[in-house]
Amino acid sequence: MRIAVCPGSFDPITLGHLDIINRAAKLFDEVIVLVSINPAKRNSCSFTTEERLRMIEKTVAGIENVRVDSSDGLLADYLREKGACAIVKGLRAVSDFEYEFQMSLANKRLNPEAETIFFTAAAEYMYLSSSIVKQIASFGGDISEFVPACIRKEIESRLSRTPQAPRK
Ligand code: ADP
Repeated sequence: MRIAVCPGSFDPITLGHLDIINRAAKLFDEVIVLVSINPAKRNSCSFTTEERLRMIEKTVAGIENVRVDSSDGLLADYLREKGACAIVKGLRAVSDFEYEFQMSLANKRLNPEAETIFFTAAAEYMYLSSSIVKQIASFGGDISEFVPACIRKEIESRLSRTPQAPRK
């Protein structure tokens, strides 16, 4: 059985992430969407690990061969533990490339059995990131074109600011 892992912070999951997960699910027998917990970045996330996991679970509920997990360990070890053969990542722009290239070389060193596979982002999601979604939602903007419909309300209510009284 060919298992792939799609790692990320998913803070929150966007339609760009979902596109990559759907495409990976067509190529692999099983896809694990992995919320990577980085203790150094714990305070920089807007959603808790549990909230992120729950939003991903809702989003991928209809895709039969996709499951969701979290890990605070090394990705290379996680792959070994699950018998996974690939790390699937999305590349949006040249700016993603240098970091991802470095990570894929490091992971190859740590787990020579696993390959990193890059999918080019869909043209319509090229510009989309979790931070853009958070920024728009925090100003009360419309995020319906950027996030799965089943979690839009949850993101909006968590991130929208209470309107401030105008200053006199
Ligand atoms: P972000 O970079 O938005 O914080 P993550 O760290 O959760 O997102 O990213 C997880 C993976 O999903 C990475 O491989 C990233 O390149 C990919 N990804 C994120 N947004 C998109 C998108 N809009 N299109 C394609 N891939 C994406």
